[in-house]
Amino acid sequence: MRLSVSPGVQGSTRSIPLKPSFSTVPDTHRKQAAQQHPAQLSGCAFYYAQAYHLVGGRLGWWIERVSTRCSAVRRSPSAAISAPTTCTPVLDSARHTTAVRPPVPLISQPPLLLVEHLSRCYGGGAAAVDGVSFSLAKGELLALLGPSGCGKTTTLRLIAGFERADQGVVRLNGQEITHRPPEQRGFGLVFQDYALFPHLTVAANVGFGLHRLPRGQARVRVEEMLALVGLAHLGKRYPHELSGGQQQRVALARTLAPAPALVLLDEPFSNLDAAMRVQMRQEVRQLFHQTNTAAILVTHDQEEAMVMADRLALMERGRLVQIGQADAIYRQPATAFVANFLGRANVLEGQAHGERVDTILGDLPLLKPAQGYTQVAVRPEQIRLVADPAAAATVEVREFRGHDQLYRVRLGDEALTVITPAQPCLAEGCRVQLQVQDRVVALAA
Ligand code: ATP
Repeated sequence: MRLSVSPGVQGSTRSIPLKPSFSTVPDTHRKQAAQQHPAQLSGCAFYYAQAYHLVGGRLGWWIERVSTRCSAVRRSPSAAISAPTTCTPVLDSARHTTAVRPPVPLISQPPLLLVEHLSRCYGGGAAAVDGVSFSLAKGELLALLGPSGCGKTTTLRLIAGFERADQGVVRLNGQEITHRPPEQRGFGLVFQDYALFPHLTVAANVGFGLHRLPRGQARVRVEEMLALVGLAHLGKRYPHELSGGQQQRVALARTLAPAPALVLLDEPFSNLDAAMRVQMRQEVRQLFHQTNTAAILVTHDQEEAMVMADRLALMERGRLVQIGQADAIYRQPATAFVANFLGRANVLEGQAHGERVDTILGDLPLLKPAQGYTQVAVRPEQIRLVADPAAAATVEVREFRGHDQLYRVRLGDEALTVITPAQPCLAEGCRVQLQVQDRVVALAA
């Protein structure tokens, strides 16, 4: 995550053709914002600057530059050092065929958004985003998931128009928008800092993007949105009088008020505590489904992604390695990286012969036939432990976790992870047989 420049509101693309205007900002603040370096801006001035950016004002490029600079400073030096020195933005889509499913919308409608071979390379380093392709159906919620530095935010910024694509195409409803400025894309944006206007009431914040509607209609829309996020009674409060979760709901209401076709969310819950995150992800999912709004959510939290999204898109080093529904990816991870990123997996070497594979855990059935050397993923909960003093495997570690137990079991050179129900308990040092339930998945190299 890094500093972002836009609060969660944008011009509309659907029923209400709205766009927030910097002209609603008092002159004194406008001048202050326009004359100062963004790093010196604080309080209202910074928020006005953000608002101005929304409508494509001159401050836009300028705040973007500061944003870029700030993010560069915040990047870990190790990421920079470990990056390969060559840049290979050109993509051979054939390279992805083993792991990446063709972009298929969830519902059989023309996609709302189509991203094809999108690439972005910064200053001669490795590509931050490398040939990413996917589609998004109307009303669908897609989570971009992956470890820090894998290119999630850059992908989102390319779609939003804050970054220039080196290669690739972005289409909205069939129309190419690859080089369209952000304020002309009509996307709603929600970032981790909410970017509420501190001097405006909750209702005024939500109505910020509705100034082109007749006043009465705007008021009704604000009331509807506040009711939708459960804050109808708090319209007169100011942001500092709200909890973090309430502020996040105001930001969402403001984003959804102009009825954008697509909302982009970058780690929107990272400022909330654990309990509030759990509550908010359910609420937000419902909110988007209720309003039939499509969204792309960037997160590195796999649980959040699985709970919220209709589909997950897993990224690794700039590439999209697998896309699909969470349970399908969990059951059939394409690579060892995916198997370990989404849940836990024991990745074993094996020799496949059709529908079976020889491994250290014996001759196991395969989910899909394979031949020759392969790696297979065995989920910890797929393994059953049976106490047997004559067995070759030994329980090295047992962690009791309430509803289940996690074991580390040594078998030759392999240290295997096994998760079993809370009973029966096998003591550390106990000899055990490992019995694999269900079929296992052969992974792509
Ligand atoms: P995180 O979860 O930590 O936010 P991410 O998956 O969103 O990470 P990005 O922010 O998209 O990752 O960054 C992808 C890669 O591009 C990283 O190696 C990062 O250092 C690099 N990068 C991103 N923005 C810039 C920039 N403006 N200049 C140079 N390198 C950049």
